[in-house]
Formats: sequence, C-alpha cells, structure tokens
Amino acid sequence: MRVVSGIQPTGNLHLGNYLGAIRNWVRMQDALEPGSQCLFFLADLHAISQPHDPAELKRATLEMAAALVACGIDPARSILFNQAQVPAHAELQWLLNGTARMGWLNRMTQWKDKAGKNREGQSVALFAYPVLQAADVLLYQATHVPVGDDQKQHLELARDIAQKFNNDFGGGEEVFTLPEPIVPPEAARIMSLRDGSAKMSKSDPSDMSRINLVDDPDLVMQKVKKAKTDPEPLPSEAAGLVGRAEAINLVAVYGALSGESTDQVLARFGGQGFGAFKPALGELLVETLRPISARFRELLNDREELDAILARGSAKAREIGRPTLDATYVALGLVR
Ligand code: ADP
Repeated sequence: MRVVSGIQPTGNLHLGNYLGAIRNWVRMQDALEPGSQCLFFLADLHAISQPHDPAELKRATLEMAAALVACGIDPARSILFNQAQVPAHAELQWLLNGTARMGWLNRMTQWKDKAGKNREGQSVALFAYPVLQAADVLLYQATHVPVGDDQKQHLELARDIAQKFNNDFGGGEEVFTLPEPIVPPEAARIMSLRDGSAKMSKSDPSDMSRINLVDDPDLVMQKVKKAKTDPEPLPSEAAGLVGRAEAINLVAVYGALSGESTDQVLARFGGQGFGAFKPALGELLVETLRPISARFRELLNDREELDAILARGSAKAREIGRPTLDATYVALGLVR
C-alpha cells in the first residue's frame, strides 16, 4: 500500500488546521502496516495557480513543514517534501497534458466554482490543476489516495488519465497504477471562538477567534475564558445542545482532544456551567498543544533543520518517482 497526499502550504496555523487536517495525516501515518508507505507533500506548485505573494508562499511552506513535524509526522517513517524540489511533478504533468482532454477539465466543478464568471481571466495553471494532481499521485504509483468529497472528482480524473495513457501508450503494459480513493477519518470542523456559525480561520480579523499553534498557555487560557457562550448550563446529552452553536463547538473541541464523543463529554459536564467547563477545556488544550507548540517554535527558528528534512524527503521522492517518469518518456517516444 502506498498512500500519497498533498496539502497546500498555509501560514498562521491554528487549532482548526490541526484538528481538521494535520491530525488526519498523523493518524494515517500511525495506522500504516509495515511495508506500506506514506508520501506527504506540500503543494507549493499548486499554490501558484492563483494570485500569490512569493515571500508569503515561502514562509507558509516552511511553516507548514514545521507544523507537520511538530504535530507528529515523522520524517524517518513518512516521506515529507515539497513539490518544488521534485521537478518530476511538473515534468509528468506536461507529459500527461497530452492525454488529458479539455472536455474533462471543463467539467471539473472546482474549476467552475473557482473561475466563476471570469474564466478568461484565470491562469492556465488553475485550469490544468487537476492534471498536476494526477501527476502527483501517478508519479509514485500510489495505490491509495485520501480524498474528501471535494476531491473525489479529481481522483476520478487521475484514473481516467492513467487509463487512457495505459491504453494509448502502454503497449500492453500498465505504465500507471490506478489509485483507489480512501475516505479519511471524518475531520473535525472547528468554529470561531467568537461566533459558532463561522469557521475558525486565519483570515478572521480577531485573534481572539482562534487558538494559534504558537499561542502560549496563558493566551490559550485567556482565549477560552473569553470565548462566546450562552448562559445555560451544559445538558447531559447531545440532543440538549440543539441551537447552541458556541456550546456545540466547545464541547466538540473537548471531545476531539480527549477522544470522547459529545455524549461522553456531556455525561461528565452535564449540569455544569461554562464557569466550570471552560477551565477544563483550557487545560486540556494547553496540555495537548504544549509539546506541539514547543517543537513548532523550535523548528521555525531552525531553518537548517527544516531544509534538511525537506531535502531528505525530496531526495527519496525523486528516487521513487524516477522509474515511472523514465517509463513515461519512453512510452511517448521521446528521445533523451
Ligand atoms: P484558513 O481557513 O485558516 O485560511 P486554510 O483554508 O488554509 O485555513 O486550510 C488549510 C487546511 O486546514 C485545510 O485542509 C482546511 O480544511 C483545514 N481547516 C482550516 N480551517 C479549519 C477549521 N476551522 N476546521 C477544520 N479544518 C480546518
């Protein structure tokens, strides 16, 4: 089993990024059987498909790498790298561009959503983005790719490209493995501490709306204490939370950290007010984030270590991808 998954580099990481995205990768890595392999990459090449600030991209790429390691991605067990250091991603995309059809890409709902009414003004990269995603997984003969609902269509496209390429140029051989989707464990969706109906986000102007991975314990406690709530005590079952968005969110965060269901959390805190619940939640957050924040800050200040981690991961990725890239050139009749 070879699992390949990418994440867009993003900066100012917060609890939502950790519980909603990064922790799933750590769980996937930790659940792998011996002999299986995970390749995790930072999708920096995808990031240039939309307007971006180069300095910000660089900062976000390093920050994301630091966060992944701090949260538990082990570069000795998993292959962690950024696309830009493995030119085969871009090369294979070009080679697959000859196989992908305009009509297939035109049907991608993410393209339609992102381009909106302004298709003419979009970059070619945004249109061809799913072909790069196909290259990302086909390069490594991925057997399994974790995909949320929004990415299912892109994985189907990768399979269509692989199949057409194998048919047209394989000469009876399977140049590419058709990857299977795996549905990742359901990711938590963490809401703002100031508004239970808005997602916790780095772009919220109020820093009190989110717990950042770099926040120190005092600040975490303060943010939890000031979190918006209602005056009612907590119910003893999930059904009693209906219509109480802020309470639902805080109980969900507690459960996501303690590994308990909402009902289990409420069985302990039911009948108590937020005056009792918030300090318990704050302490659980502080204890969970303490080692992560410490390692995260250490890595952010150690550019050499970060560079070394990404260089080692990229070298391994280049090695694993080379035979497939070579076979693709040969299949297409390209003289090298
Ligand atoms: P932001 O909303 O802060 O700009 P991004 O859109 O850059 O975050 O998201 C990076 C990753 O983190 C994505 O996989 C996204 O699904 C996840 N993520 C971001 N915010 C949350 C949240 N509040 N709850 C759960 N997951 C989140």
